[in-house]
Order: sequence, then C-alpha cells, then structure tokens
Amino acid sequence: MGSLALSRAEILDQPAPSIAGEVARIAREQLAPLAAGIDDGTVYPAEVLRAFGAVGAWGSHVPYEGPADLRCAIESTAAIGEVCGATAFMAWCQNTLVWYAANSTNLKLARRFGDAFSTGRVLGGTGLSNPMKSFFGIEKLKLKGKKVEGGYIVRGALPWVSNLGPNHYFGTIFEREDELGTVMFLADCSDPAITLTPCKPFLAMDGTGTYGVQFRDVFVPDELILADPAAPFVKKIRAGFILLQAGMALGVIKDCINIMDEVGSPLGHINRYLPQQPVHFRDLAAELEAETMALARDPYNEEETYWRKVIALRLRAGEASVAAAHAAMLHCGARGYLKSHRAQRRLREAYFVAIVTPATKQLRKMLADA
Ligand SMILES: Cc1cc2nc3c(=O)[nH]c(=O)nc-3n(C[C@H](O)[C@H](O)[C@H](O)COP(=O)(O)OP(=O)(O)OC[C@H]3O[C@@H](n4cnc5c(N)ncnc54)[C@H](O)[C@@H]3O)c2cc1C
Repeated sequence: MGSLALSRAEILDQPAPSIAGEVARIAREQLAPLAAGIDDGTVYPAEVLRAFGAVGAWGSHVPYEGPADLRCAIESTAAIGEVCGATAFMAWCQNTLVWYAANSTNLKLARRFGDAFSTGRVLGGTGLSNPMKSFFGIEKLKLKGKKVEGGYIVRGALPWVSNLGPNHYFGTIFEREDELGTVMFLADCSDPAITLTPCKPFLAMDGTGTYGVQFRDVFVPDELILADPAAPFVKKIRAGFILLQAGMALGVIKDCINIMDEVGSPLGHINRYLPQQPVHFRDLAAELEAETMALARDPYNEEETYWRKVIALRLRAGEASVAAAHAAMLHCGARGYLKSHRAQRRLREAYFVAIVTPATKQLRKMLADA
C-alpha cells in the first residue's frame, strides 16, 4: 500500500473538497457492495479503509503549524456514513487515533506513527469510552498502570474497542497505581500480553473489528506514551474527539432523507400525512452541518461556552439520527421492514450514534453539570 499512500505534504496540498469527493467516490464504488456484509459482521473492510487513507481521508485534520481544521475529516466521514454507518464509525476510530498521535508531545511517537496512521497504512482506534465516563464521574477507570524503569506495566480490561485487528493500535488511558494521576498511551494489539476477544453479536456494527481487550501485565514503553499526565491532553483533544463523531450522524441522516425521497413517488400520497417530512430533515441536516463546520474550524478553543456548544451539538446529532431513521422507517412501511432494505440497517446504525460514548445520557449529564 505504501506506494499508493499520499505523504503528509501531499495531503496538505489537497484542497479539502477533493478529498471528500474522492472519499465519496470510493464509498460508492468499493464500500457500497460491502455494506450488507459489514452490517452482518462477515466483512471487516480493511482494504477500503486503506483506500480512503490513500486519498487523504485520515490526514486532513492533522494540525499544521498550530491550528487544526476538522471540516474535511467530518465531511469525508459523512460521505462514508451515507453509504455505511458502521464504516463511518471506523472512520471516526481511525481519525481519532490520528488525532491522538498528532497532538502528542512525545515526538518519537509522533515520528514513528504520525504518517502510518494518517495514511491508513496502520489501522486502529480508541478506547476512551471508559476514561471519558470516568472523567465525568460515571464509572471508575478499568486499566491500572505501575511505573517501572522505561515505562509502565498495565493490567485490566476494556469491554469494547473497535477498528482492531492483530497489527492495529489504539489510544487509551490507565490510572497509576500510586495514585499520581492518569496516563494516555498507545496499545499495540500485536503485543502477546494483549488479548482481543470477539464480542457477542451486536444489533449493528458487527463488521467494525470490535473486541474486548485484556491487558495482562503489558509493558508499555515510554515510546508508546501519548501523554503523561493525561488530563491536560484530554482537555486539548476532547472537542475534536466529539466533533469528529458528527460525520457519522450527518451521513446516516442524509441517507435517511434519500430513503424517504426514494419512496416519495409510490407512497407520497399517503406519506404526506406523516408529521415529519424529508424537508424537515433537510433543514435539520443543513443546520447541524453548518453548526458542526463552524465549531470544527476551531477544535482547540478553550472557552467553556465553546465546549458547551460542542456537547449540545453532539446531543442533537444523536437525537436527529434516531429521529431521521425512525421517520425513514415510517415512510418506507413494509418495504423498509424487509431485512434486505437498508432502512432497518439505518435505524440500528442511528441508535449507535446515540449510544456511543459520549452517549445521550452522558451528554445530558454533562450539560446538567456544566
Ligand atoms: C459496537 C460497539 C462498539 C464500541 N466501540 C468502542 C470503541 O471503539 N472504543 C470505546 O472506548 N468504546 C466503545 N464502545 C463503548 C461505547 O462507546 C459505550 O461506552 C457503550 O455503548 C456504553 O455506553 P453508555 O454510556 O451507554 O454506558 P452503559 O451501557 O450505561 O454502561 C456501560 C458500563 O456497563 C457495563 N456493561 C454494560 N453492559 C455490558 C456488557 N455487555 N459487557 C460488559 N460490560 C457491560 C460496563 O462496565 C460498561 O462500562 C463500543 C460499544 C459498542 C456497542
């Protein structure tokens, strides 16, 4: 794949719309035929993820001489999500992994993994659900680390981490056993002390390479430390972590509008009695997209009002995804009730947007506590 992948400099030279346009083309040509297999868990689309990487999908949000701009990454994820919600989730996983490495002050790590992640040569994701819940007082950290010469020894287990495989990496956080804080690091799935256990079948997302991950006294060398202490780093990356999820929502909502439009001709005479029409979701999607793009230009903004806007947007995006998928089901009627129709896949995918961390209930708590 090395020869196909763009270098960092080449990615930065690409005008943003051309990356999203190329991603949309690959999604239509290469991803669409796999969507049903990804949904039922028989396909993990590693080659398509690499193809997206080769046209710059995972590199556009890497900060360049200071600021970062997430708009193209979100647009590209939305183009993927319009075809397959599960792959849009994997896009988020990969984009988030890139975001961690790109923001790390561990220069050795950034040099070793920066291009590998942002070109898609190396795939992976993020195990921050538990830490994100723990930082907001919902549950305790599941990984513990002991300081040793040259790194830490980490043990514990995470119930679900996606976009994984034998040679993948993901970013996550442990709590120091000496109670001196938390540390964020890259977990290397090829480490023999890390075990990936397939999860029980899900409602959707089965082709996302999601595993339970066990750490059995894993030595994490200093070279794999993203941030020590983790807290200030998490504050820096948290808005990006959440905003990049908006692409999943926008993609799912747009295809739900497509679905409603597709049945407009045979069923419009009766569907017009439904309270929610494609035009409502077109307006809603446009509003969410405009708000997302405005926030995505400035992911390092430290103002509390900005952070509140990010949380509120994420909450609306999850709720709008479920509402659009629900409306698409009602518009389709029996057609959408067939297993072979994508309306029911969209409904299952939309629920995932609303429950993946930060889930609707966590977002509501965050707003209530802010
Ligand atoms: C398909 C899928 C992919 C995911 N991918 C990732 C990922 O890549 N990275 C990541 O960090 N998180 C991932 N998650 C977790 C996800 O982000 C949420 O944390 C999860 O959906 C629950 O969030 P919640 O806030 O609703 O918590 P709740 O469901 O309210 O509570 C979650 C807690 O309850 C316990 N729990 C509940 N059900 C189970 C169960 N069946 N098995 C074990 N423990 C259980 C666990 O302690 C868990 O932390 C994934 C989840 C799913 C379903």
